[in-house]
Amino acid sequence: DRKDFDKEVASVCPFCGVGCQISLKVKDGKIKYVEGIDGPANQNRLCVKGRFGFDYINHPHRLTKPLIRRDDAPAKGMNVDPGNYLDVFREATWEEAMDRAAGGLSELRDTQGGQTVAGFGSAKCSNEEAYLFQKLIRQGFGHNNVDHCTRLCHASSVAALMENVGSGGVTATFNEIENADVAIVIGANPVENHPVAATYFKQFAARGGKLIVMDPRGQALKRHASHMLQFKPGTDVAMLNAICNVIVTEGLFDEQYIDGYTENWDAEREHLKRFTPESMSEICGIDAETLRDVARTFAGAQSAMIFWGMGISQHTYGTDNSRCLISLALMTGQIGRPGTGLHPLRGQNNVQGASDAGLIPMYLPDYQSVTSAEVRASFDALWGAGTVAAEKGLTVTEILQGIHDGQIKGMFIQGENPAMSDPDLDHARAGLAMLDHLVVQDIFLTETANFADVILPASAFAEKTGTVTNTNRQVQMGRPAVPPPGEAREDWRILIDMGQRLGLDWTYSHPRDVYAEMASTMPSLDHISWDRLEHQAVTYPTSGPDDPGQSILFADGFPREGGRARFTPADVIAPDEQPDAEYPMVLTTGRQLEHWHTGAMTRRATVLDAVEPQANCSLHPHTLRDLGVEAGGYVTLSTRRGRITVMARADRAVARDMVFLPFAYVEAAANLLTNPAIDPIGKIPEFKYAAVRVEKA
Ligand code: SF4
Repeated sequence: DRKDFDKEVASVCPFCGVGCQISLKVKDGKIKYVEGIDGPANQNRLCVKGRFGFDYINHPHRLTKPLIRRDDAPAKGMNVDPGNYLDVFREATWEEAMDRAAGGLSELRDTQGGQTVAGFGSAKCSNEEAYLFQKLIRQGFGHNNVDHCTRLCHASSVAALMENVGSGGVTATFNEIENADVAIVIGANPVENHPVAATYFKQFAARGGKLIVMDPRGQALKRHASHMLQFKPGTDVAMLNAICNVIVTEGLFDEQYIDGYTENWDAEREHLKRFTPESMSEICGIDAETLRDVARTFAGAQSAMIFWGMGISQHTYGTDNSRCLISLALMTGQIGRPGTGLHPLRGQNNVQGASDAGLIPMYLPDYQSVTSAEVRASFDALWGAGTVAAEKGLTVTEILQGIHDGQIKGMFIQGENPAMSDPDLDHARAGLAMLDHLVVQDIFLTETANFADVILPASAFAEKTGTVTNTNRQVQMGRPAVPPPGEAREDWRILIDMGQRLGLDWTYSHPRDVYAEMASTMPSLDHISWDRLEHQAVTYPTSGPDDPGQSILFADGFPREGGRARFTPADVIAPDEQPDAEYPMVLTTGRQLEHWHTGAMTRRATVLDAVEPQANCSLHPHTLRDLGVEAGGYVTLSTRRGRITVMARADRAVARDMVFLPFAYVEAAANLLTNPAIDPIGKIPEFKYAAVRVEKA
C-alpha cells in the first residue's frame, strides 16, 4: 500500500551529481519507498538508483559501534570480512575510540610535524562536513594536504576552466539544453551515469535538436544522435583540434565575440593551422568530411552546448582535452547566452559542493588560492592567525605516493575508499598498510577500513541534515528521515568532536552554524542563507533573496583579469602507455547504471545488486570469438600492474581492440590494472587508457 507510511521527508538522491530531489516514505522507522519530487534538476524524475537504491542503509554490514584494531590482529591487508571482523577489530566506546583516533593523529603532529598527517574528505558528505573536514586538516595540522575524489574525476576539467574562464563550475545548467539547437556530448555516457540528465538530452533530440555524441565506446544516446563519432581512444585533442581547424579555415568563428570577450586568439588560430581534418583523420579514426560536418553544425548553431565526462578528464592530457572544448565554445561565441555553455557533468552527488567548500589542496573555500597572502589573511582573521599554510598541499595520488616516500605517516579518511578507487591498487593498498595511524570514518567496513587503526561509524544521507550542491550549481537541503543505526553518529558531529580533541576552539552545535561560517567565506553563497535553503533550492550565484539564481554565467565577460576568457592551445599527446606485443589491447574503465563507484552502497542495495550482481567486462563479439570465449565465459585481463579474472559480455559498442571494465566490483577490482600516470596539471590518473592483454581464463 503506497499510502501506508508514517511520514515523508524531502531530501536529495545520494548518488550522482544530477541531484534529484526525492521524497523518503518512512514506516516504522525504516524507509519504505522513494518517489521523485519536483526539484529544479529532476522535475519528479528518478533513475533506478534513486528509486531503488536506498535500502543499503539497513544492511546488516552497517557499522554500529566504534572499532579499534586488536593488538593481536593480523598484519594490515585486504583480510577483513565486512560482516565478521571481530578477530581483527574490537568494539569500543566512542570515548575510547575518539581518544585513540585523535590521540594517534595529534601524536604524529606533535612529534613528527603536522605535515606527516593527511586527510581525504568525501563528496558523499554535505557541504558543511566538507568545510569542517578541510578546516580540520588546515587548522589542526597546519598544512593543505587535504583532497577528495574530485582528483579522480574532474580535476583536469576544473584546472582548464579556472585557467581559461576563471571559474571551475558549469557555465550553464544541463536543463539549458531546452534552449539549444545543437549539443555535443563527449566522453560521457549520461544514460548510465547521469540518467535523469539524459532524459533532457533525449527530449532535446526528439524536438529536433542536433545531438553530436563523441565516444570511443558506443552508447545508448547514439540512438538519439544526429552524429555519432566513435573515435579512437586517446585521440580527443586530434579530433577536437581538427574540428576547430575547420571553423578557422572556413571562417565560421564569431569574430565579434572573440574580439569582445577573449584573449590569445591569434596564437590559437596559428596553432590550429596544422590540424587539418585530413591529417587528423587517420589519428582519430573519423573521416575528414564528418569532422567538417560537425564543425559546420556546431558553429552554425544559434545556441549550442558542450557536455563532457570522465572520458575527457581521466587522461594524462585531460587538461588539454578540456582546453579544446573551451576553445571550441569561445571561438563560436557559444557561451553566456540561453542554450549555450560548458558543462562538465559531475559524478558524485556533492563533488561540486565539496570542491566549492575547499576540500582541495590548492584552494580554500570558493577556489580562493592558498598561495595568495590576501586570501590567507582573510581566513586567518576567521580561523586564527597563521592557520593557513602558503604552500599548496598534496593531492590524492601524491599523498599515497607520499606514504611510500615516508613523508605521510598518518591519515584521516572520511567516506572515501582509496583501496578501491585509486589507480594501481596494489601500490595504494601497500601504502595504506604502511601508515602508522589510520582513522577511517564510514558507514561500512570498506576495503580502505581494512587498513584502519580506528573506525568511526558514521551516517548515511537519510540520517542527517546538510546541504549539497549538484552539477548545476544548485544548493539543496538534505534532511534526516531515520536515525543512524546503533551508536553510529552524524558525520558532522564526529568531525566537531575530532576538532575539539585536536585542540581546536570549535563551538558549532548544528550544521546551520557551520553553514553560516562557510557562507561568510564564500561570495558564491551570497544571499543563500540556511533558512532560505530550508524552503527552496537555489542556483548560485544569485543576486538577491528573490532571485532563484543564475542558470547561465558569463553574459558580460569572465572572472579573469580584464574580464576576458583565454584560448590555450593544446597539442596531441599520446596516452602514457601504448599497446604493444605483450599487452596488445586498450583497457578503459567506467561505471554501470546500477552501481555506484566502488560499490560500497549499491552492491548492498537489494534491487540494484539483483539487477547487476556480478563483476563483468565488455568485449566485441568478434574479439570473444577470436579468444574462443562464449559470452558469459571468463577472461583474464593483465596489465603491467596486475591481473584479474572476470566474466565477459559481448558488446558491439566496444571496439575490437578494446575492453571496458566497470570499477564497482572488489572481486575483480579494475584499479588493480589501471595506470597511475597523471595529468601534470590536474593531477588526475589515466583511468581511461591502459595497455592490456586479454586471455581465455
Ligand atoms: Fe540519483 Fe542521479 Fe539517478 Fe537522479 S539521475 S536519481 S541523482 S542517481
